[in-house]
Amino acid sequence: MIALVSTPWPLFNRPSIQLGTLKAFISHNMPETRVEALHIYLEVAAALGYPLYKEISQSTWLAEPLYAALLYPEQAKAMEKFWHRKASKTRHCKGVPFKKVCETLEAVSQQALSSYDWGSYSLIGFSICFSQLTSSLYFIRKIKQMVPKVAIVIGGSSCSGPLGTSLAASFPEIDFVVSGEGELPLLALIKQIKEHPEWRELRFVPKIEQITNIDTLPLPDYDDYFRLLSSLGSEKAFLPKIPVEMSRGCWWNRCAFCNLNLQWRGYRAKSTKRVISELKTLSDKYQVLAFSFMDNLLPSKETLTLCNGLRKSKRDFQLFAEIRATTPPEILAAMGKAGIRDVQVGIEALSSSLLRKLNKGTTAMDNLEIMKHCETPGLPTLTGNLIMEFPSSDDNDVKETLRVLDFARAMRPLKAIPFWLGYGSPVWEQPRIYGIRGISNHPNYKAIFPPSLFRSLNMMIQGYHGPIRRQRLLWQSVRQKVAEWQKEYQTLHASPRPEPILSYLDGGEFLIIRQRRAHADLMTHKLKGTSRKIYLFCQTQRTIQEITARFPSFASDKIEAFLRMMVGKRLMFQEGEKFLSLGVPMALFL
Ligand code: SF4
Repeated sequence: MIALVSTPWPLFNRPSIQLGTLKAFISHNMPETRVEALHIYLEVAAALGYPLYKEISQSTWLAEPLYAALLYPEQAKAMEKFWHRKASKTRHCKGVPFKKVCETLEAVSQQALSSYDWGSYSLIGFSICFSQLTSSLYFIRKIKQMVPKVAIVIGGSSCSGPLGTSLAASFPEIDFVVSGEGELPLLALIKQIKEHPEWRELRFVPKIEQITNIDTLPLPDYDDYFRLLSSLGSEKAFLPKIPVEMSRGCWWNRCAFCNLNLQWRGYRAKSTKRVISELKTLSDKYQVLAFSFMDNLLPSKETLTLCNGLRKSKRDFQLFAEIRATTPPEILAAMGKAGIRDVQVGIEALSSSLLRKLNKGTTAMDNLEIMKHCETPGLPTLTGNLIMEFPSSDDNDVKETLRVLDFARAMRPLKAIPFWLGYGSPVWEQPRIYGIRGISNHPNYKAIFPPSLFRSLNMMIQGYHGPIRRQRLLWQSVRQKVAEWQKEYQTLHASPRPEPILSYLDGGEFLIIRQRRAHADLMTHKLKGTSRKIYLFCQTQRTIQEITARFPSFASDKIEAFLRMMVGKRLMFQEGEKFLSLGVPMALFL
């Protein structure tokens, strides 16, 4: 029998896709082997209370110190101080005593440790992804103390390459590391252990191997998660979201800051037919309509076929996906109709010069365009980040960001986050290009691990020497402007069914643009004849040449004057030769 374990802090309201896919794959290939998927994080979330768990799970620096205090009690004082500093800026953790959280964690973890017969497993595998490092190490240590002869293997995004090697070198309790995709190496390891009960003598090292055609993977098995959830009783019940994957890796894979693809070699995608049937089967089996695509990026070419197929299934799916900013409006509309309610868009910056440095392959206008489209009623709701303090960003990037922010006021605010250096990212690989040097583990890990481990482990989040203070000052004005934007958007969306901030009503020969303002009356603008047509033509970005060619009877100087006036009123946005109308159709809302 095999146990696959996921410890805190993944999102509690969805089963682990890592455990679900691995369990299904092993059970399919070795039907005689029983596999149990232990979602210990759900047990912990239920004991801690979902709001508190959720908030902790959203920050590595809130999550990692807690189990670290149980692992290294001699350092608990420093961890407590560090944790409270981070918690002071939060909603639920603020004011909660660190010691009390640790005590609850210890009690529920002990309960979990005593409720499984660890000696009955021939192999125990830990999936270690973001923020799961200290909690996994805690459980590994405790389990190994109880059953020293049972083999322990780790895998997951936090164990790829040197990250995993350094863990195995520092923690003798870890017997094997799977680097990269889990299915084939884990299967090989289980076979080895089965054939050689004296596995220690083997010195087996799992090879990096990937499934070529991921359509051949069996359907993920989430039975254990749902069984656990129903055992928690009605007080702890909630409607879970099911994770699904359409692809592995990223077809773009060029962003300078990104280390999300360390565990994959290349890009592979499932067929849309397979994904649709997977969603339908999982929905029927678990009576769930909410799904999250776990892909770094939905496959661009197949999205339309996927959406049409989902629509034909005639189910009220509620889906989440990550997409690129260049996704065209017709695909966004198809997504909305298919039930894709929320999208995370790779915005990252509102300055084209900075986007070039980030290697996003997009412009500020691309970003503004998708943010605008997503304000259209019926289209997915957009969330996105604005990366501040990127090491090579300069005055011009900040100035451009501030200018574009003035045009973004009618759109859902972005989350402003400071840049962090990811292990293995292109910036990490070539730091000098970005003006940084002296890379080592992020200094916050000093508050989490003893000094010797801080030096010997390779951590996911890295620290560096460089223009950090200068960057913080440089981006101060953006930070303030984003905070104002968020406040204003919240005020304008306080009613239960808020209208878009900037929209239009089309009268056939004329157009009424409606501009909602915080603490002021609605402002309207009327466009007639060709002006109306130009505004509608520029619903997607157009060059000045395209506009003048489309309206030859209108003198080009008049067109230019009209466009200038519209940009001045921030009803349109201009970048170089291109123009974009910022209002969205109100008709769909009515
Ligand atoms: S940030 Fe997203 S789009 Fe960019 S390389 Fe990473 S996964 Fe791909």
